[in-house]
Amino acid sequence: MSKLATQSTAHRQAIVVGSGLAGLSAASQLISHGVAVHLLERSVKPGGNSIKASSGINGAPTKYQPGTPLFDTRFYEDTIKSVGGVISTARKEREDLISTLTNSSSDAISWLVDEKWIDLSVVVQLGGHSFPRTHRGAGKTPPGASIVTTLLKSLKEHPLFYLETSCLVTSVLKSGDEVTGVEYDCEGQTKLLHGPVIFASGGFGGDAEGMLAQYRPDLAGFPSTNDPRPGSQNLLTDVGAQLRDMEFVQVHPTSFVDPKDARNPVKFLAAELLRGEGGLLLHDGKRFINEMETRKNVTEAITRFPATDSSPRQWDIQLVLDEGIYEKATSHIDFYVWKGLMHKTTIEELGPTALSTIQEYAKAAAGHVPDPLGRNYFAQWKLSDVSSESVVYVGKITPAVHFTMGGVVISPRGEVLDANNRPIKGLWAAGEVSGGIHGENRLGGSSLLECVVFGRISGDQAFDYLKEVKQ
Ligand SMILES: Cc1cc2nc3c(=O)[nH]c(=O)nc-3n(C[C@H](O)[C@H](O)[C@H](O)COP(=O)(O)OP(=O)(O)OC[C@H]3O[C@@H](n4cnc5c(N)ncnc54)[C@H](O)[C@@H]3O)c2cc1C
Repeated sequence: MSKLATQSTAHRQAIVVGSGLAGLSAASQLISHGVAVHLLERSVKPGGNSIKASSGINGAPTKYQPGTPLFDTRFYEDTIKSVGGVISTARKEREDLISTLTNSSSDAISWLVDEKWIDLSVVVQLGGHSFPRTHRGAGKTPPGASIVTTLLKSLKEHPLFYLETSCLVTSVLKSGDEVTGVEYDCEGQTKLLHGPVIFASGGFGGDAEGMLAQYRPDLAGFPSTNDPRPGSQNLLTDVGAQLRDMEFVQVHPTSFVDPKDARNPVKFLAAELLRGEGGLLLHDGKRFINEMETRKNVTEAITRFPATDSSPRQWDIQLVLDEGIYEKATSHIDFYVWKGLMHKTTIEELGPTALSTIQEYAKAAAGHVPDPLGRNYFAQWKLSDVSSESVVYVGKITPAVHFTMGGVVISPRGEVLDANNRPIKGLWAAGEVSGGIHGENRLGGSSLLECVVFGRISGDQAFDYLKEVKQ
């Protein structure tokens, strides 16, 4: 038994469930206040889906934003717009959460950069943003991995931190109207742990046959970019938590189908930038959509074709890049080629229909003709003299479930709210387990941000709560 686990006094420690970015942010904040943290993680390895994040984390204004960053005051408006029509339900609650998210975003980046020494110096503009504000490092390590491994390393060095992996939290303990701890299974043993609880157990995108099938039966059987695991929101509804927006699920149009393991329901994301830098999509050798359309529209265009597999439900679409794109995105493409998800070939392999499609695309990219599908941005596409001998990079892609916008309702202080919008004492939630911030659509980069913002707020709140209990 660890030093922490043998401490019987309930109120000297807080419990964090889940070791993704939300859990690690909450734990870091608690420890900065001198509170011991017992973190429970069901997987063998910590990091959750957070460690896979590849585009970056939003923040505005920051010192890294190009141009005149102090004028980037539109993060709030962009987020409200992305939430969509559902903003009209529970408008005030949603606006308060979004204000907290966007107003704390600059501080979240400073915390990671200036206190945790994580490089976030590169800033890009993702779809739906009116300004570049998605931060990642200049090196090769993707942002999710660099943030998670840095926070985890510094926590592991701290004597107040105790992490138990391969331990599944099975219920939340409640006495009267107050949460008092959790029950969990570890190495075949059922154990109890007492203290205030921060839930950071992530979304349900990897729960294909369970929660996903329940809330979005139309997506049952879809592959996912998420770790395959059941959602844990029911542990919170069992103690009175309210759910919001469970039907809103983000499907990413481009995840790779690995030719060596085509039926694997867990897919590797084909980065958005491949299309953005000029890549095109083919079905039976023909283009079918302006590749610069939103994730939702590209996904809908693909799923209008008959699926080629039912388990998982997937489609047979080719992503094609030329050498101009390769020059710009070399490290990404080399990595995909190394993993066997893309290969270098000539257009001959794709057949005569694809050859004439790519010839037409190249004419549009060179500005000789308007693109019949309305694409007007071709970025790095350079191939103009297209023949069957022209070199291309090709991968097979399919849509995959990527992010779940719904979850338990929280207050701007991270408190889990019951059906009457009252905080459940002793219980907080942060990250993808919560619902109501992103509405119908999450802006790219805002999920890592919500983990940091609401994880840290929850840590502060649990500390205040412990102070009150002790008095
Ligand atoms: C491939 C990919 C790329 C992405 N890229 C980006 C990006 O660039 N920017 C961005 O903002 N977002 C991105 N996202 C989304 C983002 O990574 C996640 O939404 C976010 O990291 C979720 O963090 P979290 O801490 O809430 O949950 P997670 O990181 O998923 O962690 C939850 C943890 O809780 C554990 N857990 C669950 N239930 C229990 C239980 N009952 N008992 C014990 N442990 C439990 C899980 O095992 C898991 O380790 C991406 C997602 C994926 C899959």
